[in-house]
Amino acid sequence: MTFPLPPNATIGLVGGGQLGRMSAMAAARLGYRCHILTREVDSPAAQVAHAVTISDYADPVSLHAFAAAVDVISFEFENVSAEGLALLDALKPVRPAPAVLGISQDRVAEKTFLNNAGVATAPWLPVGSLAELHAAAARLGLPSVLKTTRLGYDGKGQRTLRCQADLSDAWAALDPKPLILEGFVDFACEISVVIARGADGAMSAFDTVENRHRAHILDVTLAPARIAEGVAEAAQSITRRVAAALDLVGLLAVEMFVDPRGQVLVNEIAPRAHNSGHWTLDACPASQFELHIRAIAGLPLPPAVRHSDAVMKNLVGPEGVALWPAILATPGLIPHLYGKTDARPGRKMGHVTRLFPKGALPGEFGVEAALHLASPA
Ligand code: AMP
Repeated sequence: MTFPLPPNATIGLVGGGQLGRMSAMAAARLGYRCHILTREVDSPAAQVAHAVTISDYADPVSLHAFAAAVDVISFEFENVSAEGLALLDALKPVRPAPAVLGISQDRVAEKTFLNNAGVATAPWLPVGSLAELHAAAARLGLPSVLKTTRLGYDGKGQRTLRCQADLSDAWAALDPKPLILEGFVDFACEISVVIARGADGAMSAFDTVENRHRAHILDVTLAPARIAEGVAEAAQSITRRVAAALDLVGLLAVEMFVDPRGQVLVNEIAPRAHNSGHWTLDACPASQFELHIRAIAGLPLPPAVRHSDAVMKNLVGPEGVALWPAILATPGLIPHLYGKTDARPGRKMGHVTRLFPKGALPGEFGVEAALHLASPA
């Protein structure tokens, strides 16, 4: 198969969650079929896809069968083993390349890569033992944030260290080892940029957005971020620099902190569609999911322009699901459900977006009101 992929080609997506679901829907609109590789029997992505292979991500027989059935392979789930990635890469084009996933899977590799590319992060040190943790905490000071280097997401696998007594507790609690200690960033806000990059090096980046978390999980994204133009531009240029340095083919999200002096520090990168880019489904002619599919299929990348400002709110766990009737009854709220049956606490069940004319995002206290999402008493 040559690129650009012709209509009816099959895109293999590793991972069966909501990111795969929304990618498969975007792929279908471009005339492609999606084949999902997932461990889950009834996954959000497989519900809207052409085919599914249900298997462990490490099983060579399943990986072979999956690769044989598709024309290009991409991801919504990053934690595939290096051996699994190498096997897939030997059989079909993998976009982004396994080396890019390798960097994003490991916080030490990620921060080393970023710093070598001239991109600022919080100060950090690798931590392989309790003695190293004491030494690192002495150098970086407290508070600081101890994290697993691998398999962390939504605040899982991290602890904030506030006093000396926290060190041994956090060391014992966090797994898998080794760990990384990061200086605490007293951030003014958290922002992110999603960028697509084609095999020819062309790039399209969405506007810099502002992210608010609740219990370590993304709660609300405001597009665009309400920050100084220079700071938003710094985030754009950092994101372009990272995408180019990675030689990315596909989509990349860069999560950043704005420190109190207005300096932009990268927290982490994800070479895939990102929760903070969901607003693009409704506020942009071509969403992050469409740009992802276009980039990996070798199609032209349209500019990542937005026609509206937007607020996106995640619907998390049973509380999120409880808002569903009110959302459906409220004109102007744009609902998205992910097809998950079990509303466990902390699980992302869907999201809702509201659009505003450009320049008319609500003020500081108007965001929840704009969503009309006061929980029922
Ligand atoms: P992460 O898993 O690295 O994305 O971290 C989850 C959240 O924890 C971030 O979105 C921040 O709100 C917070 N956080 C992570 N690292 C730091 C840090 N070095 N300083 C302050 N807050 C942090």
